[in-house]
Amino acid sequence: MCRLLVLSPCYSMESWLYQATNELRPLCQNEHDSDDHAQLIAEWSEDRARLDEVHQPKVVMKKCVADHHNEALANSFPAEEVYCAGRSFYESVENLRSCTALVEALSHPVT
Ligand SMILES: [Zn+2]
Repeated sequence: MCRLLVLSPCYSMESWLYQATNELRPLCQNEHDSDDHAQLIAEWSEDRARLDEVHQPKVVMKKCVADHHNEALANSFPAEEVYCAGRSFYESVENLRSCTALVEALSHPVT
């Protein structure tokens, strides 16, 4: 059972994907002109811990980005910055790193 690992964002996958604020901002602006969203995205960019405090982030962004661009957002996910924020992404990474079997398996090159 120690090899069964739960990977869980604080609310939904968008809780992490919206951290890709450089990609998120133009996707939002292409759909509408929202000062509220511009403000939110600026706050998430300045303080990576803030997004973990949003209840139902996909609902907050349902009028524009929602879950329509998850692959593009994943490709520009600022992992190091989000890790350093010390919230749900950090906790998930550390949970994975605490699994000796996983760390050992990843340390061997695939042949
Ligand atoms: Zn928007």
